[in-house]
Amino acid sequence: MSEPESHEGGCLCGEVRYRIKGAIDSVGHCHCTMCRRWSGAVAVTWFTVPLDRFALTKGELATYRSSDHGERRFCPACATQVAFWSNQRPDEIDITLGTLDHPERHPADHHVFAANRLPWLHLDEQLPAHDTTSSGMVPGQSKTERT
Ligand SMILES: [Zn+2]
Ligand SMILES: [Zn+2]
Repeated sequence: MSEPESHEGGCLCGEVRYRIKGAIDSVGHCHCTMCRRWSGAVAVTWFTVPLDRFALTKGELATYRSSDHGERRFCPACATQVAFWSNQRPDEIDITLGTLDHPERHPADHHVFAANRLPWLHLDEQLPAHDTTSSGMVPGQSKTERT
């Protein structure tokens, strides 16, 4: 008998650990200016799962409200950026791919906010690139920034 598929991850200091049940099948590089500032990195790679497949197994996440609908969640001890949640799609959560224990198993399959991509950043050029989100504009969302 094999165990049901699951994936684990956590923050830099180890205070926060999480588990994802089931497959990880939507992985995107986000080039929005808010992810850039929030992370200090030139792009942030996320995967999206139904909220009920994500569970913390250790610690708690702190929340920074980055817009009227978006929350960015991070480790209160080491500030590792772990999750993004929006009340515009409350049944899903985005998790930073780099916090997985095995990110090497989950290559990206698209870009979002590609219109904001740094012109010198060459990364997965062959993938579909959406100017904003993969589903187009979200009501109330600014054109140049994710959330
Ligand atoms: Zn931590
Ligand atoms: Zn973003």
